[in-house]
Amino acid sequence: MTPTATARKQLRTPGRTPDQVGLLNRGAQRLISTDPELASLLDAEVHRQAVTLAMVASSSTADSSVLAAGAAAVTNVTAEGYPGARYHPGTAYFDSIELLAVERAKTAFGAQYANVQPHSCSSANLAVLSALLPPGGTLLGLELDSGGHLTHGARASVTGHQFKAVHYGLDAAGLIDYDTVAALTREHRPTVIIAGASAYPRTIDFARFRAIADSVGAYLLADISHIAGLVAAGQHPSPIDVAHVTTTSTYKQLGGPRGGLILIGREHTTPGPDGVTPLALLMDRAVFPRFQGTPDPAAIAAKARALALVAEREFQHTARRIVEDASALADELRSLGHHVLTGGTDNHMVLLDVVREGVTGIAAERALEECGILANRNRIPGDVLPPMVTSGLRLGTNQLAQRGMGVAEMKHCAQLVDSVLAAISRDDLDAAVDPGLRNRVRGEVEELCTRFPLPSYPTPKDDQEGAEAR
Ligand SMILES: *Cc1c(COP(=O)(O)O)cnc(C)c1O
Repeated sequence: MTPTATARKQLRTPGRTPDQVGLLNRGAQRLISTDPELASLLDAEVHRQAVTLAMVASSSTADSSVLAAGAAAVTNVTAEGYPGARYHPGTAYFDSIELLAVERAKTAFGAQYANVQPHSCSSANLAVLSALLPPGGTLLGLELDSGGHLTHGARASVTGHQFKAVHYGLDAAGLIDYDTVAALTREHRPTVIIAGASAYPRTIDFARFRAIADSVGAYLLADISHIAGLVAAGQHPSPIDVAHVTTTSTYKQLGGPRGGLILIGREHTTPGPDGVTPLALLMDRAVFPRFQGTPDPAAIAAKARALALVAEREFQHTARRIVEDASALADELRSLGHHVLTGGTDNHMVLLDVVREGVTGIAAERALEECGILANRNRIPGDVLPPMVTSGLRLGTNQLAQRGMGVAEMKHCAQLVDSVLAAISRDDLDAAVDPGLRNRVRGEVEELCTRFPLPSYPTPKDDQEGAEAR
């Protein structure tokens, strides 16, 4: 019998048995009564999220059912290995949960293979790179300051030491310079080319990357951490059948828990560097036992729940709105006189060069946060300021679109951002925003958040009704 069939059979046990909902309720009550200090911090965070305009491009809001799955008792299961091949007993339900997550990941992305165990996209990248590259082997990735990720061979990452990392950058218009990618590939003959970015507002041409990789027989790793939701919803070309391997985070645009995925499309049976082992099997071994020990069962349950939502029509609507909103936000910011990198966006992200406006990234980030708006400082190409300061600001529309905000609201959001940026200067880093302005912006932010509540989260109105019922 398959693990799923076993689990289903056992699920038919009659009678009242302890269940997950009862456990969650009891746990929440025990937390409040036995650890009010922690409980009140957690409550305050729920409230903060409800009344904040979150425009951090690397985040999304997990559905409340995803949070519930992530808090499940299955977390108590210790089990190395994969479904049907564990090194511990007691894994029938967890096996079924992991198989469900794998199937849903494959469905959501049209993949042939999915590994749902990586604890993060960073660990997924480390596992993939170490499987495809020998120590000292050459990788080619986007430079950190041009929008690349640490795990793409940056000096601060183990990937920059373990491997010989070569980097490509952007052209004068701020776009990936494919001719340089091709030239560097001819010169250095990398074993792995990485296509993917943490701060790049334009479409990535995975097919072009693949052609370049093929010119020297390199593996192409597509890292879609930031754009995974757009890829799943058809709002960005998919690399699944184009790259040899694709990695992603599950929390940035998929509304999932902290974690990563490794996906493979039609290359799943292609041999790895030894000329024999299929890539799919190589990735399984790379994650466990090479890079990780036990998987996180509750995180995998939460991934399964999030990936089910990704396959729904509503997610596709949201993805379309994310892109439309980002364009509208970029247009409005530009018309208000801000310097939008590349002149606009194709995805969820808008990058501003704020230093040209006499403001540093950190000053912009702090002032906005004071006013209830979250957007993070970001290095931009040619940045001369340190990473903790930066010349850029990165905004994203994932969570605004999840709230249901559209083009009209983006104009409003851009005006709010504009009025805060206009009120600060690069010289007084720690200067507080004028209290009058702060209160006005905060008021408007709260009004927007009340009008567009986080879907599936309790609203202040629910709380009131709950209190009256009690
Ligand atoms: C965020 C990011 C990662 C790392 O993701 P974590 O899950 O936070 O480890 C990897 N690659 C890219 C392109 C990213 O943007």
